[in-house]
Amino acid sequence: PKKSERPKFLDNIPWKAGDPAPYEALAATLSEIEQESGRLKCIEYLSNLLRLVMERSPNDTLPTLYLSMNQLAPASEGLELGVGESLLFKALAQATGRSVNQIKAEAKSKGDLGVVAEASRNTQKTMFQPKRLTIQSVYSGLRQIAEMTGNSSMNKKIDKIRFLLASAKDSEAKFVIRALTGKLRIGLAEQSVLQALASACDSENSQLAADIVKTTYAQCPSFDKIIPNLIKYGVDNLLDHCPLEPGMPLKPMLAHPTKGIDEVLKRFDAKIGFTCEHKYDGERAQIHLLEDGTVKIYSRNQEDNTIKYPDIVSRIKELTKVKTAIIDSEAVAWDTNLKRILPFQMLSTRKKKVDNVGDIKVQVCVYAFDMLYVDGESLVTKPLKERRDRLRQSFEIKEGEMVLATGEDAHDADTVAVLLDKAIKDSCEGLMLKALDDTYEIAKRSHSWLKLKKDYLDSAGGDTLDLIVVGAYDGTGKRTGRFGGFLLACYDSENEEYQTICKLGTGFSDEQLDKFTEILKPLIIETPKAYYNHKMSPDHWLEGQIVWEVKAADLSISPAHTAAAGLVHEEKGVSLRFPRFVRVRDDKKPEDATSAEQVAGMYKSQEQVQALNRNEDNSE
Ligand code: ATP
Repeated sequence: PKKSERPKFLDNIPWKAGDPAPYEALAATLSEIEQESGRLKCIEYLSNLLRLVMERSPNDTLPTLYLSMNQLAPASEGLELGVGESLLFKALAQATGRSVNQIKAEAKSKGDLGVVAEASRNTQKTMFQPKRLTIQSVYSGLRQIAEMTGNSSMNKKIDKIRFLLASAKDSEAKFVIRALTGKLRIGLAEQSVLQALASACDSENSQLAADIVKTTYAQCPSFDKIIPNLIKYGVDNLLDHCPLEPGMPLKPMLAHPTKGIDEVLKRFDAKIGFTCEHKYDGERAQIHLLEDGTVKIYSRNQEDNTIKYPDIVSRIKELTKVKTAIIDSEAVAWDTNLKRILPFQMLSTRKKKVDNVGDIKVQVCVYAFDMLYVDGESLVTKPLKERRDRLRQSFEIKEGEMVLATGEDAHDADTVAVLLDKAIKDSCEGLMLKALDDTYEIAKRSHSWLKLKKDYLDSAGGDTLDLIVVGAYDGTGKRTGRFGGFLLACYDSENEEYQTICKLGTGFSDEQLDKFTEILKPLIIETPKAYYNHKMSPDHWLEGQIVWEVKAADLSISPAHTAAAGLVHEEKGVSLRFPRFVRVRDDKKPEDATSAEQVAGMYKSQEQVQALNRNEDNSE
């Protein structure tokens, strides 16, 4: 790492080379970032801290990075913070000698438990100078808390939290508490952290370094692996030391929505052609075959889903001729008697953990559509045509267990229309259209893949939206006694906030409303979270944990909502007109909900389509 000017706000923190990195330095950096609205400045603050850590306490680089992203481990380990509010109230009360009710009341008025923790610490008189918190000690403390399970864990967690708070000074308490809630609320998105890490290593050519770090993270999303290699080999050689390999889930390639067949033809080169595959309505499954014979299955978000699909694990071994591989596929619910696809709703009833293959009620068939790695060779830079051939050669096909996604290559609109019809008849959502000559773009929402859903005609911007449920309205009339409507939000990663986009009350059956009322009631919170950006207030605010897929007729500019505010209109947001509930998205976390940028994109594409229609009308 290159030497740099020491940031001013770190000046008074004692920290010699060889010392463990003080947590105070991280808390001071996070405080500066919190007050700063410019993204580049925030990246600079974090990169300055990372540079100092790498210079003085290199072994603390990994925990510093994790804490600045509010993570404890790679997503595939499934280790998460997110301690419940009531437990935090108790811990804070005990640590500060105040009553739970006092803490609760203050949390309500301040809207942020972290701020309450900070204020409470300042009024505490301490007899002994407590030992300073280090980045390593906070990281291990949080990790221990996340790993505690079982009946007696509640008190153990409180003890540990009290222990951390006892040594916390000033803003340290705020960030410890915020880390525990699972939300840091400083507005540092993953890409910004990666950029900061890159400039901490090579400030002269930070753009090149950022490209390397981001590409490496996309194919190997594990800081456990990246940081030691970065420290040992430097940023220039990082990619070679963190290759794509089975056992390491990579971020999948995603598709762009399209509004119609015309758009598809505009985007693709008709001469080279593209393939039109069925778009199956199941769950993405990235299947990894490891050298030692292990099979792993990862979700769209790199979570380990292997225990959900032991049936796929055992069949893969029978059907494959290769030793190592990474296959991209969709696991789809399958009716073994009638030999046909079942709707996604069936798959969503399948247990998350299957102990015994014999107990499985919902069978699945794997529809493989891509191959990213085979027998020691990465295929991501090869054209789709070649990857598809390799996939075909590597597996034996077995109906109802593992097959290739149905598809045909096309050059013209008529063929696409016929194939779309066929896909819908075959119980699919529509088509995935893919340029045959293009590479696999890890982690990208690429224009080489387009999705054409059957309801593209009546759906805004060509796609449904996945939205966070942040509020609920009491039902009236027939719906009295249960929730009758909901307030939904999209996710703005730039500001790390939830922005409201619509009120939703249509598309539910009575049974669904009963069920959702039951599921959502425990999530009621007294005040909206500080990261809820809203202008309207529902009857009940909810802890934003649940994501629903929603279809809308239209997107419009709205003074009542905050979604994508500043992106299409200076102050006003975007809202959905005539939104309708489609389904629950268990596989998405709030951070995976439709982003503010996507909302803006949908609004703009709808505007373009409308302008096109107007022009066509005029010309007639
Ligand atoms: P996105 O992944 O684009 O954010 P999403 O998770 O809501 O959105 P869709 O918009 O429905 O998913 O479309 C993409 C998903 O479709 C893929 O992630 C994959 O799970 C699924 N899929 C089904 N069939 C195919 C196929 N033939 N090729 C690629 N993906 C497919």
